[in-house]
Amino acid sequence: LPWYINPIEEALNLKHMNKQVVEVIIIGGGAAGLSASYYLKQARLSHLVFERGQVGQSWRSQRWDSFRLNTTNKMNALPGIVDTRDPDGFSSASSLVNSFEEYVARFQLPVIEQTEVIAVEQKDEDTFRVTVQEKDMKREYLARQVVIASGAQTRADIPVLAEGIVSSISQLHVSSYRNPGQLRDGAVLVVGSAQSGCQIADELIGAGKKVFLSTSRVGRLARQYRGRDTMEWLDAMGFFDITPAQLPDPSIMRMRAPQHAAGTETISLQSLARKGVRILGRLDGADQTRFLFQSNVLEHATFADAFSLKVSRMIDEYISAANIDAPPPLRDINDEPIGAASLDTSTCIDAKEQCITTVIWATGFTSSLKYVRLPIVDDNGQLVYDRVHGLHFLGFPWLRSRKSSILFGICDDAKLLVGDILQHRTMRIESF
Ligand SMILES: Cc1cc2nc3c(=O)[nH]c(=O)nc-3n(C[C@H](O)[C@H](O)[C@H](O)COP(=O)(O)OP(=O)(O)OC[C@H]3O[C@@H](n4cnc5c(N)ncnc54)[C@H](O)[C@@H]3O)c2cc1C
Repeated sequence: LPWYINPIEEALNLKHMNKQVVEVIIIGGGAAGLSASYYLKQARLSHLVFERGQVGQSWRSQRWDSFRLNTTNKMNALPGIVDTRDPDGFSSASSLVNSFEEYVARFQLPVIEQTEVIAVEQKDEDTFRVTVQEKDMKREYLARQVVIASGAQTRADIPVLAEGIVSSISQLHVSSYRNPGQLRDGAVLVVGSAQSGCQIADELIGAGKKVFLSTSRVGRLARQYRGRDTMEWLDAMGFFDITPAQLPDPSIMRMRAPQHAAGTETISLQSLARKGVRILGRLDGADQTRFLFQSNVLEHATFADAFSLKVSRMIDEYISAANIDAPPPLRDINDEPIGAASLDTSTCIDAKEQCITTVIWATGFTSSLKYVRLPIVDDNGQLVYDRVHGLHFLGFPWLRSRKSSILFGICDDAKLLVGDILQHRTMRIESF
């Protein structure tokens, strides 16, 4: 019988055996950490997963009430399971969290919750020292290999210009936004026109708020095209399998995820403008109650249209090359040019005059990797994923391909990662 009879028991034993060397420590109990744990368990390799909160913590604590994933349920299944929910449905954050909890229970994954990793250091050539904080107690573990699965999008990214805004205006990041009822009376400025910003602007205008949306250069994806979900077309076409080395222009790796409806309706600057959202250029400065905008709103709208058109043409070409029997394109009002009249080219808006009482920063997330006390960034501050032998990343953008930071790509990467871990282990054992 393998030693690995009851992994939870084993994990708890290890937890109380200070300085025991674990083969692998995984940091983070999100989709990445759980997928890696699943494959390690299949490979019967001793490991622990440390999660600072509860499994799926990012989905529990950083999503708003009406949030729906923009990938269909069938695209989000973790490895080893068949998702029994409506395959074409769009899950809420809580339903995803439930599925994570069921996953841990079903596969008996050795997840230790409420345990934050506060330091990862090299002890010697072959071993990492991992320090965790459990309630008010610190504990040290040793591991042969470490997987950083602590999320690429866990820390609110707010531009410094926020500091120029008068304190009487409330400010919050999308990670703290829950629903329109939470906001004060008055108009709202949403800054950022990628997925979160557009979806929240849509919800607020629907709730009767006056909404201003400061845009950025973001593409747009139709929800459906020629009878199929656009993400699924792109997946079938191999679009998400493109690796960094295959990109014609590396700056593509820094592009924001496109505007994309969660749920069934396409979201676009057109649809928001039709509902009454005032669509502005990029926020460039803030001075007390005055907000300054760049005059590039038309450029942003044109970019989103061109992006959507380009994706449609790519799908058309694929359908024709693969001789697929797909229905012809339907007229999509989101693709009709927005027209300058629907855009607001103001370069200055006074919050007092417009009764703006709240600013919502839909300006993205970054990772928080200060706990990794190892050389993982280059001279430009960019993460280098393969610099430290035995230290692995999972769930980070463009780790292996375009899909590396979305759920279905994370699962694929986890399988490859565990192959790397096993290889590393074999090399270490052989070198003795
Ligand atoms: C608003 C929004 C919407 C999204 N919608 C989709 C979507 O519809 N479909 C899709 O595929 N992707 C979506 N994504 C991307 C999504 O975040 C990733 O697909 C996926 O959640 C990443 O999984 P992960 O496990 O790498 O990270 P996370 O889910 O963030 O998990 C990381 C875990 O690590 C824990 N952690 C962090 N630091 C420590 C530490 N020091 N010690 C211990 N634990 C730690 C965190 O608490 C967290 O639970 C969305 C992202 C955002 C921000």
